[in-house]
Amino acid sequence: MHILYNVSSVKARIGCRDIGKTVRLIAYGKERNRSRKGNRSMSEVLKVEEIFAGKVFTLGRMKERLPKNVYKEVRKVMDQGGELSLATADVVAKAMKDWAVENGATHYTHWFQPLTGITAEKHDAFVTHPDEDGRMIMEFSGKELIKGEPDASSFPSGGLRATFEARGYTTWDITSPAFIKETATGPTLCIPTAFCSYTGEALDKKTPLLRSMEALSRQAIRIVRLFGNTEAKKVVPSVGAEQEYFLVDAKKALQREDIIFSGRTLFGAPAPKGQEMDDHYFGVIRERIGGFMHDVNIELWKLGVTSKTQHNEAAPAQHEVAPIYESANVAVDHNQLVMETLKRVAGKHGLRCMLHEKPFAGVNGSGKHNNWSITTDNGMNLLEPGQTPNENIQFLLVLACIMKAVDTHADLLRQSASNVGNDQRLGGYEAPPAIISIFLGEQLEDVVAQLVETGKADSLKEGGMLRTGVSTLPDFVKDATDRNRTSPFAFTGNKFEFRMVGSADSIGSPNTTLNAIVAEAFCEAADRLESAEDFEIAVHDLIKEYMTKHQRIIFNGNGYAKEWEEEAARRGLPNIPSMVEAVDTLTTPKSIRLFEKFGIFTEAELHSRAEVLYETYAKTVNIEALTMIDMANKQIIPAVMKFAKSLADTSIAVQQAGGDDFVSTELLKTVTGKLTEAKKAANALLEAEEHASAMAQGKEQAFFYHDKVVSAMEALRKPADELEKLVDKEYWPFPTYADLLFEV
Ligand code: ADP
Ligand code: MG
Repeated sequence: MHILYNVSSVKARIGCRDIGKTVRLIAYGKERNRSRKGNRSMSEVLKVEEIFAGKVFTLGRMKERLPKNVYKEVRKVMDQGGELSLATADVVAKAMKDWAVENGATHYTHWFQPLTGITAEKHDAFVTHPDEDGRMIMEFSGKELIKGEPDASSFPSGGLRATFEARGYTTWDITSPAFIKETATGPTLCIPTAFCSYTGEALDKKTPLLRSMEALSRQAIRIVRLFGNTEAKKVVPSVGAEQEYFLVDAKKALQREDIIFSGRTLFGAPAPKGQEMDDHYFGVIRERIGGFMHDVNIELWKLGVTSKTQHNEAAPAQHEVAPIYESANVAVDHNQLVMETLKRVAGKHGLRCMLHEKPFAGVNGSGKHNNWSITTDNGMNLLEPGQTPNENIQFLLVLACIMKAVDTHADLLRQSASNVGNDQRLGGYEAPPAIISIFLGEQLEDVVAQLVETGKADSLKEGGMLRTGVSTLPDFVKDATDRNRTSPFAFTGNKFEFRMVGSADSIGSPNTTLNAIVAEAFCEAADRLESAEDFEIAVHDLIKEYMTKHQRIIFNGNGYAKEWEEEAARRGLPNIPSMVEAVDTLTTPKSIRLFEKFGIFTEAELHSRAEVLYETYAKTVNIEALTMIDMANKQIIPAVMKFAKSLADTSIAVQQAGGDDFVSTELLKTVTGKLTEAKKAANALLEAEEHASAMAQGKEQAFFYHDKVVSAMEALRKPADELEKLVDKEYWPFPTYADLLFEV
């Protein structure tokens, strides 16, 4: 028997230029032992180069299947924008459909990203009306490719579109490749699309992202032109998103309503062991998890996602996967596919993948490190400092602009990484606090300090040598930027790593905001420098001015320390502890000015997003509260009562038999005391929830959930978790942290 995945080996070229290289990088040959299934050879070799992007309508496939002039027109629109003519779209649609049908697809869908934060799809078969002989020919037109019209009334719109004007349009995002998704419904051709209302307002995460990429490109081009780059035509933000997740046994997870309904545990006493031994991080990957990761990689590679790095994370049952970076909008799409694939493949392995930011209290939560850089289409990374950053004026200008952008809009950046789950994570001991600051590393911080002080940076701190002290091991030249894992926004060599983003969230918003704020800083710098009489002096002055003014945003110390919060307050940096408190940052005059100026959001769109966020917060907390009440009243309290009864019976029996009933009596007292506390807390939570859900939707309601319902939830959790530690395991109604985290 030969290869399992017999897909054409057209070199994959999608999204980013490096992918061809990437494929070779990740290629490996591995003997797969499939003997368990009986029908496959013992020595099948997984040929990654052959399966990679096998389910993607890549540029290579387009080139192969489209007439030259059509392909040229597609490339032109991809690179320079504009619209495809309907005639061209028809030809592309037919080629795409033929390829999809050859791969078994019967349906297509416009795949989009509404404000729910996940993806949406509505499948249509390629079938058409049969002819008079009853024959049917599968068809797909250019119009169907370019535009879809899903009934949009059931997607969040924050008041932008009343239900009676339910029209919404999906339009093909030609810059992100179409792909075939293989699920139980059969192979389906997915066309990445943007989602807008009848009047053109964005109803999704994709549209503003694409707008922000164009804005950033226009302004960044002005910057590189100032330094004599006349060749670059556009500048593209690149993103590599590291995805953290938990894996638990599906059967056990399904015994817990909290995991089913809210994706996290709402009750649960800590297991005797947590992550204090540091024995999970980078630990040997267990067999069951290894099998899962292997299948995830295969699925992702087929979809053209360059899954590259995998490891165990800090908390027990926590893991990470990271692809290679690519153009921001493709990275946003691919991250959605990563999340979807993790969940789907987990199901096949009898596992459940938890993407929530804080699935278990007391151990680390999950984030998504959003690595971001900006590169010209002729390959120059504007964040590359080179050997002598102190002399690299273009780099210093870009850095100064980013300092200005992040300091000016720290509130917006923090907002872009907020969601309901992240409220549980940010500010904990494992994640950055809710204060934005920039980590530059010793070398760059010193360069900035010199520039601020004297206007010149003559010296450069070297990384120095790392001596291993073992004659057979080489000594290394140390990196000049060490890592700082506590910083929310860290410079790591030639990119910034935005570490605040939540694990379950789309990376659309954080990247839209980043692109927007940096575009603004570039624009203001370019306005001044383009009209300067003496460019050298002007750029020098501007770098010094920006760095001096915004130096307060730089912090190289321990971001988790309490002292930093105090220091940040002294520096006047915003500390926005929760999602609901961050929403208002979207609609300040400063924010509206920024987003309107660069055509990323209209004021109406910003207000609608704020509305959606308040609604989402309220709905999510409401589900959590109801779940807790249900679990408390129907599971925990009855179980504890049974246990109390057995203690009472024991007490009486021991007494009658003349024994010492100290233990059973004392335990009975403690348990029934906490039971009373739990029942009262459940009643109070119900009351708070009923009050909250009767309120009108909006800011006030969201704040009520945040201020009153969340604290009532905590008040219920406390006695319930204490009871879990006291009650006989036989009586406890669902799997515990120990069962979930250590028995996968
Ligand atoms: P870490 O050590 O931070 O955990 P990983 O290797 O897990 O690093 O992930 C780093 C991520 O950063 C990868 O997705 C990688 O492709 C991405 N990356 C590397 N260089 C760039 C760049 N210039 N721009 C954007 N992302 C980048
Ligand atoms: Mg990593």
